[in-house]
Amino acid sequence: MDFLPVFLNLRDRPCVVIGGGEVGARKVSLLLEAGAKVTVYDPDLGPSLAALRDAGRIAHRAERFRPEVLDQCVLAIAATGDETVNRAVHEAAVARRIPVNVVDQPALCTFIMPSIIDRSPVVAAVSSGGRSPVLARLIRARLESLIPAAYGRLAKLVEEFRDQVKAKFKSPPKRREFWEEVLQGPIAEMVMAGQDELAHEAIEKRLNEADGAAKPVGVVYLVGGGPGDPDLLTFRALRLMQQADVVVYDRLVSPQVLDLVRRDAERIYAGKERDKHSIPQEDINHLLVRLAKEGKRVVRLKGGDPFIFGRGGEEIETLAAEGVPFQVVPGITAAAGCAAYSGIPLTHRDYAQSVILVTGHLKDGTVNLNWKALAQPGQTIVFYMGLLGLSAICRELVSHGLPAATPVALVQQGTTPQHRVLTGTLETLPGIVQREDIKPPTLIIVGEVVKLRDKLKWFVPVPR
Ligand code: SAH
Repeated sequence: MDFLPVFLNLRDRPCVVIGGGEVGARKVSLLLEAGAKVTVYDPDLGPSLAALRDAGRIAHRAERFRPEVLDQCVLAIAATGDETVNRAVHEAAVARRIPVNVVDQPALCTFIMPSIIDRSPVVAAVSSGGRSPVLARLIRARLESLIPAAYGRLAKLVEEFRDQVKAKFKSPPKRREFWEEVLQGPIAEMVMAGQDELAHEAIEKRLNEADGAAKPVGVVYLVGGGPGDPDLLTFRALRLMQQADVVVYDRLVSPQVLDLVRRDAERIYAGKERDKHSIPQEDINHLLVRLAKEGKRVVRLKGGDPFIFGRGGEEIETLAAEGVPFQVVPGITAAAGCAAYSGIPLTHRDYAQSVILVTGHLKDGTVNLNWKALAQPGQTIVFYMGLLGLSAICRELVSHGLPAATPVALVQQGTTPQHRVLTGTLETLPGIVQREDIKPPTLIIVGEVVKLRDKLKWFVPVPR
């Protein structure tokens, strides 16, 4: 190890920065975040530091560097870009035994500044020992995505309950077990979703249970799994999938997405073939309630977004009525996913000022939709579940006023390795589709924007 990582307490301590340009400004803002009292030496200040001086946040001395300016400070940073000055700062600091950092000159540093992920009071720091700041920054970016923004609030919750937990669990292993459960489970997720009050209640309940060995809190996460490509999951969806005890999933959830669920989780298939639901909706609703009441972390995984043609509303109504805690995680809906991967912008200043999502699902062969409202100029229409009704849909749109030459796209298994797009017009597409072997699910996009695909298509599916 070239450098020992330590965290310095600089609150109200005098620090000196030599160099008033933008590089110096970045260091100054970090020092300020740590509560330091900063004095900047430079005959001229750049705009960022001038603003901080005018706001009274830093002191400024319009002087050249002299070794004596370090006499009273606890830490020095040189950011001048002038080799001679930088070296002089280094020497003066070493002579006074105070830590010194010379920007971009590791050989002149007695300490270096890491890339940091700030979730105060939680702070993670990454350093490449001055060898590759870019590499450190890339690692930092990965950590940023791994450490949810709410970890700071989580740490504060721990602080609040620390004494109580200590009093309750005398043995350190028991304490650790308790905190591990809290910090990895539903209680932490409550904090991350802003349900702080619920989290407090849940911790209190756990503490009040005589032996602390009560059933853990059960909860249902209604998670949007997106249209197929696992890269399109949200961080939250992935995190919850990896904590699940049981996952209840639909036919629309792609195998690649399902693969990301925790290995040991029980998997329950809830079906949803067209018109032959493997489990009736009513039973799914009650299944979710029962699993949660057993103390399980249940992920109800849906294709696309749970609130767009996903019956998500019905499922959580039952949960709400039964007092089961739940969260809803949005997903990329088929319209957004299919359109993006097909190079078809759903709105466009020249062609479409509105977009409408409708179900093309036909009960007994008829489509009962407000055709007049749909067949409007300057509007993109996206039909979910429209394959069987395609001919009827095209016919109705034309008879309600859309030109027969209006472009239409049919997107099959959008965003997956089987992604395929057929294009035509309201007049020609039904015939084209009939001659092809089409695999569900498919989405139909109607409107002038479909023409843009010729120029904008970019996605090339890679077969597995
Ligand atoms: N909640 C889902 C929609 C469920 S309804 C969402 O937000 O996307 C089911 C319909 O969604 C299918 O019949 C099909 O029209 C559409 N669909 C879902 N995933 C799709 C995909 N990958 N490609 C094309 N259409 C898809």
